[in-house]
Amino acid sequence: MKRFVEEGGDPGTLDVVVIGGGITGAAVAYEAASKGLRVALLEKNDFGWATSAATSKLIHGGLRYLQNMEFDLVRESLRERKILLDIAPNLVHPIPFLVPGYRDSRRNKWLLRAGLTLYDLLAFDKGCTRDANQKIRHHTWLSRAQVLEWEPQVRAEGMTGGSIYYDCQSIYPERMTLAFVKSAVKHGALTANYAEVKGFLVAGQGRVEGVEVRDLLTGRTREVRGRLIVNCGGPWADIILQMAARGTRQHPIRRSEGIHIVTRKPRSRLAVVMWTPRGRHFFMVPWRGLTLIGTTDKEYEGAPDAYRVTRRGIEELIQDANDSFGDGGLRYEDVVFAYGGLRPLVDEQTEGTYESSRKYEIYDNSDTGIQGLVTVEGGKYTTSRHLAARVVTLVEKKLGVPGKRSRTHKEFLAGCEIPDMMRFLHDLNEGYGDFSEATREYVGRNYGTESGEVFALARNERALAEVLNPEGQILAAAAYAVRAEMARTLNDILFRRTGLGNVGHPGEKVLLDVTRLAARELGWDEARQRREVEAANQALRLPAE
Ligand SMILES: Cc1cc2nc3c(=O)[nH]c(=O)nc-3n(C[C@H](O)[C@H](O)[C@H](O)COP(=O)(O)OP(=O)(O)OC[C@H]3O[C@@H](n4cnc5c(N)ncnc54)[C@H](O)[C@@H]3O)c2cc1C
Repeated sequence: MKRFVEEGGDPGTLDVVVIGGGITGAAVAYEAASKGLRVALLEKNDFGWATSAATSKLIHGGLRYLQNMEFDLVRESLRERKILLDIAPNLVHPIPFLVPGYRDSRRNKWLLRAGLTLYDLLAFDKGCTRDANQKIRHHTWLSRAQVLEWEPQVRAEGMTGGSIYYDCQSIYPERMTLAFVKSAVKHGALTANYAEVKGFLVAGQGRVEGVEVRDLLTGRTREVRGRLIVNCGGPWADIILQMAARGTRQHPIRRSEGIHIVTRKPRSRLAVVMWTPRGRHFFMVPWRGLTLIGTTDKEYEGAPDAYRVTRRGIEELIQDANDSFGDGGLRYEDVVFAYGGLRPLVDEQTEGTYESSRKYEIYDNSDTGIQGLVTVEGGKYTTSRHLAARVVTLVEKKLGVPGKRSRTHKEFLAGCEIPDMMRFLHDLNEGYGDFSEATREYVGRNYGTESGEVFALARNERALAEVLNPEGQILAAAAYAVRAEMARTLNDILFRRTGLGNVGHPGEKVLLDVTRLAARELGWDEARQRREVEAANQALRLPAE
């Protein structure tokens, strides 16, 4: 992948310029490029660094939205869950969730039974996955004793029984967002990270004709012209829109903070759904040998660029976890990593953000006098592909080009062309016996059909075969990140390409080895290396306040 803003030459007027390289922008760029449109995707930081990296790592229907009677949203999510299983089988897989029922009105077992039966009915096609091993099973019922047998640490007081139901996990959503970007590139899209849209090129009658982009790595500014601009700015979408609307506020977003912690305990065998004493649900999910706990849901009123996870937020989440699961002894010191993000919400009707819908809106901004701009707000990671398909249908209409059939629900994402995941892993075991089982599993799941390229780097240069952690991650993945995946900072490599940093500090030696490698590949001097290490340490450290 090349950063097109670094290259000379003018691509001329493109069909679509997409602002924002989170999952929404990546999916829109892929959808549009797959239909033969000429596309550019511009991201001001790294691809998928913001809200798209802050998820509970679930590809799910959203059981709780049934409570709000949002049947359409749940069905759409369940359909997309199956599609993502089909098109990215190495990155998405089904996992069982234990949900206990309690003797109160919101969580009683009859309500749970009704909800889960409806959830399964709405997922009527869940057994028809392309890979039979990826089939999602029906829920099952458990007695109180069985719940406690599965998970003795579940709060027993008032518990009357429970259920095991199935949803999906994306171990590493950052690589899934990247797979959408790569798929766009495969279809000819021009892409660039660290390319910030600073303003719009506006012609007569307020028609937006392009954007002014600052390449944050070189400091150079250039213009990129498009017949249509699609604003996929996530929590920044209303700010971007304001830039085009010359200061007038249109379609304001409500932002809600959600944080997650990765902890050494408590350990659960299954993913568990629990409720806080105030009635908010949260998950405890086994993840990469640790426990992922989250999330919170709190109105955020500051600027999205200023958002940071705070110690107080982490402590509140620890309190919630201690109130309902484990021995109540989870402490700040047990947290190895914390991350957070801002949900862009379009629903203004509810008092709290937790009750607010996760639906999305697609605005044709010509309706409010801004020709040439479409803005997308809200949504879920799970529904992004379908959202993108709808956006591009509108784009085709506005451009006056014949509407083509979307194919993104059928075609594997780039690097994910695996019809049978078990066989694929088996073949990797056969072909790469010189690497450990853990390494084969890590590379196979995260790099899919690109695994051979990562292994080849390690075979050709012995230093790159260095194993960096018990998960079997190898230095070759860091080299691949820089050479083939547009990683430009140490944090890109640690958090959004290899995942070395998302489970806590990888250790000084690993940090040094990865920094040296990146320095060699990207030509960093000593001062730059120090700055990169400092930025990484800052991102890895838990907040002091
Ligand atoms: C705590 C939490 C948990 C969640 N869990 C789940 C889950 O488990 N499953 C699920 O399906 N969904 C989940 N979601 C929802 C999901 O994360 C979002 O729907 C999705 O990530 C939104 O993606 P996006 O691309 O719209 O936004 P973002 O990922 O925020 O992307 C917007 C991008 O626009 C870029 N940008 C902004 N301004 C500019 C500019 N001027 N120039 C260039 N680029 C710009 C930003 O840098 C950013 O990368 C969760 C959300 C949160 C907050």
